[in-house]
Amino acid sequence: MSAGLLAGKVALVTGAGSGIGRATCRLLARDGAKVIAADRNLQAAQQTAQELGSDRSAALEVDVSSAKSVQGAVAEALKAFQVAPSIVVNSAGITRDGYLLKMPERDYDDVYAVNLKGTFLVTQAFAKAMIEGQLSGGSIVNLSSIVAKMNNIGQANYAATKAGVISFTEVASKEFGKFGIRVNCILPGYIDTPMVAVVPDAIKQQVVQRCPLGRLGQPEEIAEVIAFLASPQSSYVNGAAIEVTGGLK
Ligand code: NAD
Repeated sequence: MSAGLLAGKVALVTGAGSGIGRATCRLLARDGAKVIAADRNLQAAQQTAQELGSDRSAALEVDVSSAKSVQGAVAEALKAFQVAPSIVVNSAGITRDGYLLKMPERDYDDVYAVNLKGTFLVTQAFAKAMIEGQLSGGSIVNLSSIVAKMNNIGQANYAATKAGVISFTEVASKEFGKFGIRVNCILPGYIDTPMVAVVPDAIKQQVVQRCPLGRLGQPEEIAEVIAFLASPQSSYVNGAAIEVTGGLK
């Protein structure tokens, strides 16, 4: 991507206090966007925003699983740069792995609430703001996962939500196309972030062996594809689910 392609745009990234979300904030700012770093962990979001500079970034606290909190985030985001974000990246996500016969209902509900309902709430609220603001060239990027296709044992809750994100993305792309808003999702492989840091080493080794590139991915390698999907260079890409896995299937 080249610097300046996102000049004049405002982007909002959830999960911006860590991993892929934080790397995405850096690259969207590199490409000229003003960036709102949103996270349930306000301090972490503030760290991300501080790194980018206060003239071109802002931090806000949001719990994507709460409609009320998301509504508040829309109001805060509008205040930050006096215009609704036309780029929204749904990167907030959690795992609560466990075998089905022992999975507490709470672990199923929590993963659903953040990964799938959160994607819905943020997408709906910010798409409305884009449409009301009559913004052109909107782009929403959702984070699914290759786990939606690998369907690993011990990840029924996570796999189901990430498969749901693919369907949700496709429907949203069909409904929002007429407003000039594109909606796409990415299926990352195993990326070296705090989320994967808790995966047992034996499983990470298996992943690396199965991956044709023979390594984990870096958050910037996902963020580059997000920056592309956010930019006019992907102007005819809509409803896509793009695997970024080093070839891991
Ligand atoms: P991460 O754990 O490093 O960061 C997730 C961020 O989301 C954290 O800052 C956390 O505070 C925030 N968050 C969690 N719940 C939230 C909520 N309710 N509201 C707002 N913020 C919340 O994770 P990551 O590796 O950067 O993953 C980012 C996204 O990419 C997730 O959706 C994840 O499922 C997906 N993904 C990651 C990988 C990977 O290997 N790391 C692979 C495939 C998909």
